[in-house]
Amino acid sequence: MKFVKQLCTRAIGNVECASMDQEQLRKKLEFYRDLGVKQIYRREMPEPDAAQQAAVALPSLAPENDTLARIREDIGDCRRCGLSKQRKNIVFGVGNDSAKLVFVGEGPGADEDEQGIPFVGRAGQLLTQMIENTAAKEGIHIKRSDVYICNVVKCRPPENRTPQPDEMEICGQFLYRQLMTIQPKAICALGATAMKALLNSKLGITKMRGEWQKWNGIPLMITYHPSYLLRQYNQQAKREAWEDLKKVLHFVYD
Ligand code: URA
Repeated sequence: MKFVKQLCTRAIGNVECASMDQEQLRKKLEFYRDLGVKQIYRREMPEPDAAQQAAVALPSLAPENDTLARIREDIGDCRRCGLSKQRKNIVFGVGNDSAKLVFVGEGPGADEDEQGIPFVGRAGQLLTQMIENTAAKEGIHIKRSDVYICNVVKCRPPENRTPQPDEMEICGQFLYRQLMTIQPKAICALGATAMKALLNSKLGITKMRGEWQKWNGIPLMITYHPSYLLRQYNQQAKREAWEDLKKVLHFVYD
């Protein structure tokens, strides 16, 4: 028993043990003692780095028989976060309700806020061209209206700033439901914000792009945001984004 008491003292601070009550901890340590374990070590838990802290866990709850219409209804005239104060329109999503491919951007800009439709400004025009021209060149017969396009947050952040973690988390529940409802064959995350919302990765976008990941069992490709590609000096990034998109289109539509 003395052995177990000593171990108990050391085990406090171990993450698994920290969530146990005294009795559970005692039983676990007795189990190890009976196995012949004489020593345990307390492992210091590393501090999460900045990228990890920035990653957002989307609340993962979806009602049974969910539909896009029901999700939109649940959003209502949303006042759940501060982004609602300055928005003109909620930008829910656009496209085919049973799309095989979903693009996820960051959040609406001024044009999107005005029209209530995602990716209709300059970045949106580039995205449309990328989808339609790449598909045509690759012999894949799809238009923008065949895919589904939405954002991590549904209201325009002031001055187009990056959405904050709490805003992403609050709005993320609706993105989660949208993706779970559509169940596409693949998701394409556009830029670092979408990547952070969908993937708990410590790595930056340049490391993560171009390789298949998974989001709740659905293949996920991360690539650059079209706004980033609009900057003139990003020729290399443009080539890479086109390669990523080709990969996605062939995977989904071949
Ligand atoms: N950028 C985004 O991330 N989403 C839009 O809808 C428009 C621009």
